[in-house]
Amino acid sequence: MNHEQSRALYDRALSVMPGGVNSSVRAIRPYPFFVQKGDGGHVVDADGNRYLDFVMGYGPLLLGHDMPEQVQSAVQQRASEGPMYGAPTEVEVELAEFVTRHVPSVEMVRFVNSGTEATVSAVRLARGYTGRDKIVVMQGGYHGAQESTLVEGEGDDTHPSSPGIPESFAEHTLTVPFNDEEAAHTVFAKHGDDIAAVLTEPILGNYGIVHPVEGYHETLRDLCDEHGSLLVFDEVITGFRVGGLQCAQGKFDIDPDLTTFGKIVGGGFPVGAIGGKSEILEQFTPAGDVFQSGTFSGHPVTMAAGLETLRYAAENDVYDHVNGLGERLRSGLQDILEDQAPEYTVVGTDSMFKVVFTRDAPDTFEGHCDAGCQQRQACPRYEHCPKNAGDIKQAETERWERLFWPEMKDQGVFLTANQFESQFICDAHTGEDIDDALEAYKEAI
Ligand SMILES: *Cc1c(COP(=O)(O)O)cnc(C)c1O
Repeated sequence: MNHEQSRALYDRALSVMPGGVNSSVRAIRPYPFFVQKGDGGHVVDADGNRYLDFVMGYGPLLLGHDMPEQVQSAVQQRASEGPMYGAPTEVEVELAEFVTRHVPSVEMVRFVNSGTEATVSAVRLARGYTGRDKIVVMQGGYHGAQESTLVEGEGDDTHPSSPGIPESFAEHTLTVPFNDEEAAHTVFAKHGDDIAAVLTEPILGNYGIVHPVEGYHETLRDLCDEHGSLLVFDEVITGFRVGGLQCAQGKFDIDPDLTTFGKIVGGGFPVGAIGGKSEILEQFTPAGDVFQSGTFSGHPVTMAAGLETLRYAAENDVYDHVNGLGERLRSGLQDILEDQAPEYTVVGTDSMFKVVFTRDAPDTFEGHCDAGCQQRQACPRYEHCPKNAGDIKQAETERWERLFWPEMKDQGVFLTANQFESQFICDAHTGEDIDDALEAYKEAI
């Protein structure tokens, strides 16, 4: 593969953009390929190399790179009528109606411009509503580039995970390992009356893909109810991907008080949203006192793209297609691992997938989860599969990143460039793409 153009572009980029990129995960070593254009389930780079794309913009592109006719024409029409106004438009109401109709716990929604902005606003809302300061987050959970959740450490011994964040922010953030019910009980026993909210992804999607163990979300729900705290599901990745239009909360049958969205709900354009019970959402200004505002919020082009994308998904059995391919890919990967690397774990559900380079193999494969780890206690892999961020960290992250990822790229398969971030199947992918991907995995593992 020739990368002359990408190399030259990165050289220029390093002079004018820190690290040569606008989002840190893109700074693949030694240098990223620059994308020329998307094409269905593929991307083409600046040197004309073509890759089967499972990054899909890190999650937003449910339909792939080609907008279906109805999405394209809605976007073009909105753009041609002037991109935005500083006054409300009908399309915002329509997307809000769509979201509240399909997501069980959501009665009202406020649109913003990124997942980060959504989680920042949700935390402020939870604090404003409860009159409390502390929040509980999962170790290895990701809620965007925001001060309150960029913490490391355990329990109430937490510190900012980045320079530039005052220690006093971390003082209000408590951390627990995902899937650890005892740790959740402990933190509530000690701080319950001060906890405004528990903020969690329903499935850890930015740190391996870790499925909840049976009863975990129910435990969080009960603890929040007992202590008057809010349960906030960060569905920025899982929203309109896991569980289809009802999102992961529908699939797991859990009613969070607040939900954050992003990624898919903007149809590939910058977006975020906070949804939840009216009683809580109406604390936002101007209905209530918790300040929230944004020049670009509810941007008509984004709203049109999101609405038509979700309508298209609903009308064209998109979830059946991507979830079917997901199952086929994950079970094919499982077969390859049984043969070549029994210690590794296939994770993921619906249209999310990853192979995590865990280190221990079970004695038998009889009765294991056959299309991605579901944390079933009866599975012979149960004791070995990752339950939380600590377990993911123990896996072979260097081998994954330095040997495996470049080998897949050389075979023309674009995966997220570290062991932590999820990969995605889109509507434009075909059975043939899945077979190609499996062949590449077979070679590279
Ligand atoms: C991507 C993501 C975010 C941040 O969204 P941005 O649009 O990148 O700010 C927050 N939470 C989760 C779960 C995410 O996956």
